[in-house]
Amino acid sequence: MKAKLKIVLLILLGIAFTAVTIALFLPSAPVLLLFPAYLVIVLAVLITGFAPAAFMLSGFVTLLGIYVSTRAPREEMGVVPLLVAVLWGCVALGLRHFKRIAGRSSQLKEEKDRRFAASQALNRDILFYESRAKELARRAEQRRLLSRAARELGSLLDPQAIQARLLQITQMLFPQKQVAISYGQQSDAVDSFVMQQRHSLQIPNNTIKGRPLIAAPIHARNAVAGVLKVAEANEAMEFTRDDLRLLEIMASLASLALDNSILFYQVKQTALRDGLTGLLTHRAFQEKLESEILEASRFGSALSILLCDLDHFKTVNDTYGHQAGDQVLQGYAHVLVRNVRDIDVVARYGGEEFIVLLPQIQHAEACAIAERMRLDISQQVFEGGSQSIAVTGSFGVASFPEDATTAPQLIRQADQRLYRAKEGGRNLVRGR
Ligand code: GH3
Ligand code: MG
Ligand code: MG
Repeated sequence: MKAKLKIVLLILLGIAFTAVTIALFLPSAPVLLLFPAYLVIVLAVLITGFAPAAFMLSGFVTLLGIYVSTRAPREEMGVVPLLVAVLWGCVALGLRHFKRIAGRSSQLKEEKDRRFAASQALNRDILFYESRAKELARRAEQRRLLSRAARELGSLLDPQAIQARLLQITQMLFPQKQVAISYGQQSDAVDSFVMQQRHSLQIPNNTIKGRPLIAAPIHARNAVAGVLKVAEANEAMEFTRDDLRLLEIMASLASLALDNSILFYQVKQTALRDGLTGLLTHRAFQEKLESEILEASRFGSALSILLCDLDHFKTVNDTYGHQAGDQVLQGYAHVLVRNVRDIDVVARYGGEEFIVLLPQIQHAEACAIAERMRLDISQQVFEGGSQSIAVTGSFGVASFPEDATTAPQLIRQADQRLYRAKEGGRNLVRGR
C-alpha cells in the first residue's frame, strides 16, 4: 500500500481513538459516538492489512467499550482508555510478531523450495553427464574395435579367416545381439534384397513379421559376395542410424580384405601358373623339385625328371600361324598331364619345352613313362585353328640319385639327353 494512504489511515486511527476516549471520559458524550469511532478503527486495521484476527479483536474491544460505558460507574471509567490502549498495543505487537514469523517461515519455505529445485537440477545434470560419459565410453570402444578390425582384417588373406574375424569383431560391437553372415548363398528374403539392391537395409521393430534387423552387403571384386546381418533378440528394441553406419563400415572393411585376398591369390596364381597351358611355371617347378629332392634324400627314395621339347615347332608356327601353335601347345600339355599320376608335377619349362617331375620313380620306369607320352603325342592330332596338326616330341630322362643329387645337375643331365634325342633324329626318348 502507498505510504501516503497509510499515513492518512493512521491519522484516522488516531482521531478514532481520541473519539473513543472522549466518549468514555465525558459522561455527557453519547454512547452512540463509540460506534462510528470503532468502525473507523476496524476499517483502518483491515485496510492496513492487519488480517481477520485483528478484525475480531477490534470487535471484541468495541463490545468491551460498549459494555464498560453502559454498565460501569462513571468514576471507574478512567481505567477504560488505558485498558483499550494496552489491549490495542498488545494486539498490534502480537500481529507484528505474527507477521514477522509468517514472513520468516515463508522465506524459509521459499529457500527450501529453491534448494530442492537446485538439487533436482543437479541430479538431472549428474544423470545427463553419467549417460554422456557412458555414451562416450561406448563410442571410444567402437573406435577401438573398428581400428582393430581394419588392422586385423587387412592383414588376413584367407576368406574363411576373414569371415571368422569379421563375425568376432562385429559381435563385440553389437553385444547381446545375433550376428550372422550369409556368404555366397542367399538364405532368406533379407539376403536376396541386399544382394539384388547392393544396398544396406534396416528393418524397424514395428514390422509385423520378424525382429528388428540391420544388414549390409559385403562386396568382392565389384560383386556382392555376402551379407552381414545383426538381429535384435528383444523385439521392443530399435537399431539406430549409427548402428547401421557401423555395420556398413564393418562390411566395407571385410570387402576390402576380401578384395585384397582375391588379388593376392591372383598374383600368386600368375606367378605360379603359366597363362597359356595352366601348368606350373619354371620358377614354381624349381621350388617343387628342390623340396622333392630333399624329401627323396631324407627317405632314401628315388625320383626322375623328363625334359621334353617339341620337334620342329618353328615349322608349325610358320605353317599354321602362331595362334594355331598356341593351341597345339595347350593340347600337348594336356597329353602330358593325362599320362602322369596326381602326385607328379608337369610344368612349362619355357617356349615349347616341358618338364615332368616323377617322385619315387626309378630311371627305367621313368623312361617307360616318357616312351608312353612320346607315343601318345605322335598318335595325337592337334587342333590348330581349323587345321589338324600332327607333332612329335623328344625326351631326355634323368634320375635322382644315380645321375645327380642337386636340382641344377639333374636338369642339366636331362637336357643333355634331350639334345641326344634331337641328334638321334627326334621323336625319341633318351635316358642313361
Ligand atoms: P627343334 O626340333 O630343334 O626343337 O626345332 P624347333 O623349331 O622346335 O626349335 P626352336 O627352338 O628353334 O624353335 C622353337 C619355337 O617355338 C620358336 C618359337 O617360335 C616357338 N615358340 C616358343 N614359345 C611359343 C609359344 O608360346 N607359342 C607359339 N606359338 N610358339 C612358341
Ligand atoms: Mg623344339
Ligand atoms: Mg626348344
